[in-house]
Amino acid sequence: MALSLYNTRTRKKELFEPLDAARVGMYVCGPTVYDLAHIGNARPIVVFDLLYRLLRDIYGADHVTYVRNITDVDDKINAAALESGEPISDITARTTKAFHDDIAELNALAPDVEPRATDHIAEMIEMIETLVASEHAYEAEGHVLFHVPSDQGYGKLSHREREDMVAGARVEVAPYKRDPADFVLWKPSQDDLPGWDSPWGRGRPGWHIECSAMSRKHLGVTVDIHGGGADLIFPHHENEVAQSECSRPGHDFVRHWVHNGFLSVEGEKMSKSLGNFITIRQALEGAPGEVLRLMMLSTHYRKPLDWTEEGVQQARTRLDRLYRVLQKANLPALDQEIAISPKGNDFYDALLDDLNTPLALSALERLADDVSKMSAVEMQIHGIGLRLAANLLGLLQQDPEAWFKGGEAESDVGDIEAQIALRLEARKAKDFAAADNIRDALAENGIILEDRPDGSTDWRRAG
Ligand code: AMP
Ligand code: ZN
Repeated sequence: MALSLYNTRTRKKELFEPLDAARVGMYVCGPTVYDLAHIGNARPIVVFDLLYRLLRDIYGADHVTYVRNITDVDDKINAAALESGEPISDITARTTKAFHDDIAELNALAPDVEPRATDHIAEMIEMIETLVASEHAYEAEGHVLFHVPSDQGYGKLSHREREDMVAGARVEVAPYKRDPADFVLWKPSQDDLPGWDSPWGRGRPGWHIECSAMSRKHLGVTVDIHGGGADLIFPHHENEVAQSECSRPGHDFVRHWVHNGFLSVEGEKMSKSLGNFITIRQALEGAPGEVLRLMMLSTHYRKPLDWTEEGVQQARTRLDRLYRVLQKANLPALDQEIAISPKGNDFYDALLDDLNTPLALSALERLADDVSKMSAVEMQIHGIGLRLAANLLGLLQQDPEAWFKGGEAESDVGDIEAQIALRLEARKAKDFAAADNIRDALAENGIILEDRPDGSTDWRRAG
């Protein structure tokens, strides 16, 4: 079976065929760094991390390049700086670091290239100059605008009618625009705003041109996969297509457009005004990153995902069950060198079928069930297979002991172990009432004790 992916442009599931299997390229629109990332932003991170892991498995890690940009020049950043008085470079550096820290908790691999928009201004200016020279763009009052009616193909990605496009883009109908749908490639900057010298005076780029320029610089004229959340289809990605293809006629910009669905919270759109806005950081206070990751993957990436407390608890229970099997299998310490691909089973086939993670997770759970019923020797062999398969999902890579004890601070662990020692002493002295009291007190704090045949006692967090 081969990888198929739904392509937003053709609205069909298609066989994924890279231009060159030795150099597979994927570009994903990254964050605008002015504020902490929220759990909606985490969805494309997890979805495209999964796709990256799968592509590396299929084509070989050295043959896949994943580019995810950092948008560090944007009017939202300027507005944040104006409001707080913090210098722009401090805001972008601090927010970029927070983003990296947060998504590392979700087990997201680092992309191969993480270009910053501010390092690619020359490439943007060059692309805009080409568009102006071919009359796809024009200068007006210090702005450079892309002239939408000059592009016959405009609208082919989002399948929108012209009327919807103008309304949907909410583009400002400035008097200097030749057409209401025209969008900004370059705009003038006053002295107190970030700006670069250009043929049109000191100014800064529009958002869409940033991705067109960075994608071309790092992945060439045609990219195999371009991804992001569904909200980016229009106008951001439609405009990227227009800029990239009109500046290099005769070449497709993207072969497969992949978009993740939206995330809501307890059935409502997440927004600051509704008070249901959850940053990745806040979500991590309630559950380990691996739980959040499994929660993300338990819904198919194109479907809406409703983030509920109940869903998070279910994800935790599913992970507890899987880790319990790994614990029972008593696997050797994780050795990243054994990179055997778990190809050719229900689990892998589900992923190949447009990243069907709900199906892949149930296949993984069936495999875990089978493993738990095996003999000790078989359990070790198939347990390793289970862990390798889960690695494609970015799950189950912790030591099971660490998983079950996770979330307890070191001092708490010392306390728990001291209580266990007291309980053992009480049992030895046949004071079973005292021993049971200790067990109950720990249970009330969510710590479950398990007595082992050898007389020792193990503990874990309640699921
Ligand atoms: P932004 O910083 O707003 O440009 O968003 C960064 C990425 O997160 C983009 O790919 C967005 O499509 C995606 N995104 C933002 N909000 C959500 C959400 N509620 N659900 C899913 N994806 C989202
Ligand atoms: Zn983009």
